[in-house]
Amino acid sequence: MHTENQSVQLPLLIEKQVSLSIKREDLIHPLFSGNKYRKLKYNLEAAKSQGFDTLLTFGGAFSNHIAATAYAGKLQGLKTVGVIRGEEISAKWETNPTLKLASEHGMQFKFISRDAYRDKNSEAFINILKSEFGAFYLLPEGGSNVLAVKGCEEILTPEDAQFDMICSSVGTGGTLAGIINASLPKQGVLGFPALKGDFLIEDIRNFTSKENWQLQSDYHFGGYAKVSAELIHFINDFKERTQIPLDPIYTGKLLYGILELVKKDHFEPKTKILAIHTGGLQSISGMNAKLKKKNLPQIKL
Ligand SMILES: *Cc1c(COP(=O)(O)O)cnc(C)c1O
Repeated sequence: MHTENQSVQLPLLIEKQVSLSIKREDLIHPLFSGNKYRKLKYNLEAAKSQGFDTLLTFGGAFSNHIAATAYAGKLQGLKTVGVIRGEEISAKWETNPTLKLASEHGMQFKFISRDAYRDKNSEAFINILKSEFGAFYLLPEGGSNVLAVKGCEEILTPEDAQFDMICSSVGTGGTLAGIINASLPKQGVLGFPALKGDFLIEDIRNFTSKENWQLQSDYHFGGYAKVSAELIHFINDFKERTQIPLDPIYTGKLLYGILELVKKDHFEPKTKILAIHTGGLQSISGMNAKLKKKNLPQIKL
């Protein structure tokens, strides 16, 4: 599947003589979108060819990966189980838009404490899950494994050879690793972590041996799913100017970071930047409910 690159026109870009295009992976599907489609593609094939009828995975209550896995399972006729971080959510999950929709797509949940969640990959816990749900194809948290990286290698296409710099948001790093693997030696790849963490560089190195990449770690806004009024304002303003919606957890921080770097003359004049819109728009309604409670501005739909 090839998605379209959309050129972005902003006065700042003209002033700095830098061009910016956005690869609209978000348009693949509202739920099964962007990099989660790419990451699941070969895993779904593997699950089916290995004879599994159930996918099991892990995530937080607003996880794009949970939403995508539920939808993909429904499409492919596979049962899905979501092991969700936070026991307290079990009493109110129906008020959570991500989980409600995942359930409507047939996903079964198991809510576990944050402590248990930290231990989720232990053999003992996996055995408990097997006795509870039967045999399953295990997708890691965030969906990053070798087959996920292989799927993300298909984000870039031959036409993208014209770009000098490819920028993408980073959660677990699987997506960036796929982009790096598919990039050309003359291109640079810049990852913008959506969370704090020094472990990411090592995690990415597990999936790529290339060196033409860097992380820009100044634009996580305090950590995973942390937002500020400034970020919300940026997302609303960007949409008004470009008609391109951004999500608050990943792509909003990515574009904020790219434009800050442009302001600071980080990119040479004439640089052609391609930013990957990895999707994630399904998280906006859940985030807006949180913002409303905190009396913060909301993301315009
Ligand atoms: C999951 C996700 C990411 C991060 O992908 P990783 O492969 O975990 O680094 C980026 N953007 C969006 C919209 C996502 O849902």
